Amino acid sequence: MTKTLLIKNARVVVTMDDERREIDGGGVYIRDNVIVQVGPTADLPRQADEVIDAANHVVMPGLINTHHHMYQSLTRVIPAAQNGELFNWLTNLYPIWANLTADMVHVSTLTAMSELILSGCTTSSDHLYIYPNDCRLDDSIEAARKIGMRFHAARGSMSVGQSKGGLPPDRVVEEEGAILKDTQRLIETFHDAGRYAMERIVVAPCSPFSVSRDLMKEASAMARNYGVSLHTHLAENANDIAYSREKFNMTPAEYAEDCGWVGHDVWHAHCVQLDDEGIYMFGRTGTGIAHCPCSNMRLASGIAPIRKMLDQGVSVGLGVDGCASNDSGHMLGEVRQAMLLQRVGYGPDAMTARQALEVATLGGAKVLNRDDIGALKPGMAADIVMFKLDQIGFAGALHDPVAALVFCTPSNVSYSIINGKVVVRDGVLGTIDLPVVIERHNQLARELALATGA
Ligand SMILES: [Zn+2]
Repeated sequence: MTKTLLIKNARVVVTMDDERREIDGGGVYIRDNVIVQVGPTADLPRQADEVIDAANHVVMPGLINTHHHMYQSLTRVIPAAQNGELFNWLTNLYPIWANLTADMVHVSTLTAMSELILSGCTTSSDHLYIYPNDCRLDDSIEAARKIGMRFHAARGSMSVGQSKGGLPPDRVVEEEGAILKDTQRLIETFHDAGRYAMERIVVAPCSPFSVSRDLMKEASAMARNYGVSLHTHLAENANDIAYSREKFNMTPAEYAEDCGWVGHDVWHAHCVQLDDEGIYMFGRTGTGIAHCPCSNMRLASGIAPIRKMLDQGVSVGLGVDGCASNDSGHMLGEVRQAMLLQRVGYGPDAMTARQALEVATLGGAKVLNRDDIGALKPGMAADIVMFKLDQIGFAGALHDPVAALVFCTPSNVSYSIINGKVVVRDGVLGTIDLPVVIERHNQLARELALATGA
């Protein structure tokens, strides 16, 4: 049965279409899960099964989060990990994460997705790379189905423990054969290659300092064989570069290329310390990156050269990163930080509000290798968010409501529509009972910390 939805009378519709049109008084007409028409309200059909009046709202494409570790929402602001750089921070957290359970994965994924959806995100990737006890990626996917989020589930992994010269303790790493077998199972069970897919699987060994060269190569071969994407962490900070030089006698970019980890179907998180040769090579090969400004600041990793990357044609998406190194999963807040941090590094015109929004929409879609999300135009998936403008944080900023979204206090959405379904209505997430999830999440976070004596 067909269902139609009309969004009308928006203060402005930000399309992110080929002309980057912003339509005052515009609207969007949707049939089932697909956008049929975008334009001035007067040009759209008058009636639909459901009509949402968007007066005093900015209507825009749902934001796309390209890097996260949702289980880390259980370990926000752990005292021992508040003030370290990447390797020190990880070393303090691995023993806590070793006590993670399937129930914790499921509940923390619901929590993280709730925060993302309420802050404007409609598609997210999640990089789950630690599988102690009964943990499985299936529990993340189940959570995404329940909440109704478009999901790229990355099957992460760690195989090189401390005894083999890696960073993680031996008890949290897996056998490489088992990793590949489970990754194959997940692709064959869940991956949907079709247009408007709600579930895709990504092959995602955690980082060059936690898996072997063999696994990196076998992972890229498997991904190519199934036509799925590849994701990992790369060139995050100075220690990461030193490890690559010492272990492989290569820069991270050279190592990625050597392992087959470049191309339109690959995206790397961070790349804060990617050198110029790496930037040119990523631009040339269509390799994407996930920029995570809050995490980079939190761990003092540096300022990723995003302006330079964009100028060199590198595909750049935005990521909130896990909540152990950001402590916030607010997607629109991350857009703001992306804009501000580029200015700290490269001057006041290094990134505009609209460029930051473009990275978080079109950029994210490109990084995830999709052409059906990230813009409001006919034939695109109906992933649409609405921000209400008569809030205290926007008072006095309505000369430019689109820029206000990025410059002013990050707002939550009043409406979120994902794959044609109204998931947030009047600011309330309708697919789960959020207070119950938060209470359960806090209980599990307490149990996890107590189990480790953190
Ligand atoms: Zn990460």
